[in-house]
This record gives sequence, structure tokens and C-alpha cells, in this order.
Amino acid sequence: MARQFHLYNSLSRETETVEPLHDGHLQFYSCGPTVYSYAHIGNFRSFLTADLIFRTAKSIGWEVTYATNITDVGHLTDDDLTGTTGEDRMVQALQSKEGERFANIWDLARYYTLVLQEDWRSLNLLEPTVRPRASEHMREQIKAIEQLLKSGHAYETSNTIYFSVPSFPAYGRLSGNEAAEDLEQGVRDVVHDPEKQDPRDFALWKKDDSHLMQWHSPWGWGFPGWHLECSVMAQTYLGDEIDIHAGGEDLIFPHHECEIAQTECLTGKTFARKWVHTRFLQVEGKKMSKSAGNFYTVRDLVLPESEGGRGIDPLAVRMTLLSGHYRKPFNFTFETLKTNVRHRQRFDDVVALAESGLENGENGQNELSGSLTALFERTLSAMLDDLNTPEALAATFEATKLVLKHEHLSKDSAASVIRWLDNTNDLLGIVYPHAPLKTESGDESFAAEVDALVAARTQAREADDFTRADELRDELTSLGVEVMDTPDGPKWKRRSTLS
Ligand SMILES: [Zn+2]
Repeated sequence: MARQFHLYNSLSRETETVEPLHDGHLQFYSCGPTVYSYAHIGNFRSFLTADLIFRTAKSIGWEVTYATNITDVGHLTDDDLTGTTGEDRMVQALQSKEGERFANIWDLARYYTLVLQEDWRSLNLLEPTVRPRASEHMREQIKAIEQLLKSGHAYETSNTIYFSVPSFPAYGRLSGNEAAEDLEQGVRDVVHDPEKQDPRDFALWKKDDSHLMQWHSPWGWGFPGWHLECSVMAQTYLGDEIDIHAGGEDLIFPHHECEIAQTECLTGKTFARKWVHTRFLQVEGKKMSKSAGNFYTVRDLVLPESEGGRGIDPLAVRMTLLSGHYRKPFNFTFETLKTNVRHRQRFDDVVALAESGLENGENGQNELSGSLTALFERTLSAMLDDLNTPEALAATFEATKLVLKHEHLSKDSAASVIRWLDNTNDLLGIVYPHAPLKTESGDESFAAEVDALVAARTQAREADDFTRADELRDELTSLGVEVMDTPDGPKWKRRSTLS
């Protein structure tokens, strides 16, 4: 019998069976980061939910097209309120102290995109099928705005193209934010544009010929509003209707509400059949903030101490994030992290025991096959039940305990253990470091990143900026890439992981 996958849908406010529109092929979109800084563990908690949807769907034999974006333009500091005012987060980052080391805004975007992908790999998130960038989908965004203007869902003022919220009566269905007054309350400190027709209207395009990132459009130079990119990229890569759309709970309003409005006015169809939202994360019982001193990026935890980190096993960080259910507020503590470092160690012990059993074990009885199959079944059932990660992990801990009762394993038992480890790793990503299931497109985007970095290094060298060139080489090294300067220009290859 085919397995059923249940997820809580924030739109219907009910747990439902996932039934892909195309039989056995899930079309799935998850909002990615704005690359103006290092991603923190709260960001990654939500990326991890998407990774688990991806892995769980694959584990029951579905094909999955999974798109998650990179926001590298247009995300304003006030976008979480109105989407019409505020400073561009990327520009603000460039003008900050940390921004001083970047030549320009493109350099900054490139750097934080690379770092994001590095953190992504270190926490063992699988490469998505496609990772589109907002800045590379300008033509599609402009076309969408033209279409919305034509169909009366948008209007132009002297400095902005707005989406007209009253033209889409279903606005507010996801978040329950139906009343414009509620919104007004939230944004009363923000300067209003007198030409705006309804306070809920949000920007599709900002006319601004002094902005650091600008494109030519039928309305002059400017840049798109933040919400538009996800509508357009989901449609480009997944089609008019998608099965699941995911993101952090902070994105429900206004971001996802605006995405629904735009897409449904463009296509006349239901945009996403299910919406999955990850609750926020606290650290040591408090809201994570730089001023409270409890703000952690992934690298704060996983980089070696010599590089300013705490040298924690990235997979222990991953396990800690999995130890709370995605729909409950999660309290990240160093106590839980410590416990998970120990759990992680036990997986390494199991791997070592199984490898030695395969090599030196006797031929003989297989004592573990039945129990491990049953425990894996418990893990998978838990994941299919709205990603119940605490229960899924508990079953794996029982399995490691069971295996480690043995001092030696027979060849057959060892083979069963390896099979269990592989299945557990495919589903939860907690056994072996680095994603083993990289898709080809992931490799392509990796190659594109490396090419861009190599080109930037060549440029820096030509400009005699050797400090920058060295920094870029270090970045390449940390990605596991070796650059060789040849008479035909620089060539690169991946360093062997065996050396
Ligand atoms: Zn989005």
C-alpha cells in the first residue's frame, strides 16, 4: 500500500494528506534567505523543515522538484510591515562596518551566497533541485508587473507600482489580517505615500535611479518589491499551481499573503495547495538578539575555535534543531546541544562497529535485522506524521543503544546495521557529514559559484589588489576547491576528499 504523508496546512488550519497534483511528483517551494549577512540558527531551523519535507517525500519514492530562492535585491527593512518604505537590507549591509571589505554590492551578495551554501552543506541540507536568484529573474518580474497593471490589479504612482489589495478579495485568508486598521496599527511609525490608494497596497516596483541595484523597466530605472520574486520564481520553475509552499512563521504576513495575491491574480488558479510554517526559535529561553548576547550564526557554532567558532560537530547542531517539532516554539540551549554531541558520537561508534564487523566479523547469525527494520519503520512513520522529529530521533537513539550493546558484529548483522545507517541518513541526514545525494543542478550551481569566485580573484589580481585576491583564494579553499594558474588562465578542481 502506498504510504501517506501528512502535513499541517496553515491555510486550512488542519492536518491533511499530501496528494501531489502530478501523481508521485511533488512540486515544492520554500523561501530562502536574504544574503546580506551570515544566516543564523533560526533561519536554518526553517530551511531544515524544507529539507525534511524533501527527504521524507523522497523516502516514500516520490520525485520532488524543490525550489528555494536567494533574495539578493529589494528586501527593505520595513518590508515585514508594508513593503513600501525603508532601506534596502543589502545596501545597509554594504554601508556597515562589515560591508567595508566588499568592493561593491554584487561582491557582497556573492560572498554571503557562498557562505550560505557552505553552511547549508555543513548542516547536511540536500541541494535543492534549483536555487534561483531574484536578481537573475528581472525580465520575468517586469513581465508579471505589466500583466498585473493590464488586468487592473496594480497601479502606478510617481515613484512606485503598487499591487491593489482591494482588487483581490481573498487577501488575508492565510494570516487572518483582514482589517486594514490592524495593519495601520503596526505601521503607524512608517511614513506613508500619499499617492497610495489603500494602506494595505504593497510595492511591486520602486522607481529609483540612485539605487545601487537597478534595472531598466517600462517605468524607468528601479528595482522590484521583495514579495514579487517568490511568486515569479515559483511559477517559472514549478508551474502555476504548486503542492507545498514553506517558510518561517514570520513570513506568513505580509510576504506569503502578498505572494498569494500576486500569483492568483496572474494565473487565476490556486497558488499553493498547502502552506507549511516553522515556528520561531529562542535561545536559552529568550528571543535571539545581538544585544542579548544570545545570537548565533551557524559558523559561530561549527567553525573551529582557531577561526572564531566553537568547534561543534555540525551534525550535532542539526540534531539539536531536529529535537523540537517544527510547529512548536523551540528553545535552543547549550545543554541540549551537549546531549546531542553525545548522541552524534554514538552514531560514529555504530559506524565503526559495523565497519569492523563487515571486515572481521564471522559469518553467522543476524541478530539485528528485525529490530532495526522495526525501528526504522517507527522513524519513517513519525516523519510522515507531520514531521514528528522528536519521535523520529527517539527511535534512532533506541537503535544506536541496541547496536552498541554488542562488542562485535557478525558480517550479516553488520550489513543490516549499515543498511539502517544509510536509510536513517537519507531520511534525517544525521549520520554522515556532507550531503551524499547532491543533484546535478546542485553541482552546476556550485560550479557557477566557483567560476564567479575565480573570475573575481583574477580581477583583483589584475587590479593589484592582492589582499582581496588572497581572501578569495581562501574562500575557494574553504569550499574544497584548488585553483591552478596556467598559461591559459586559472583552472580549478575539487580537492580530493581522501587526501
Ligand atoms: Zn518568499
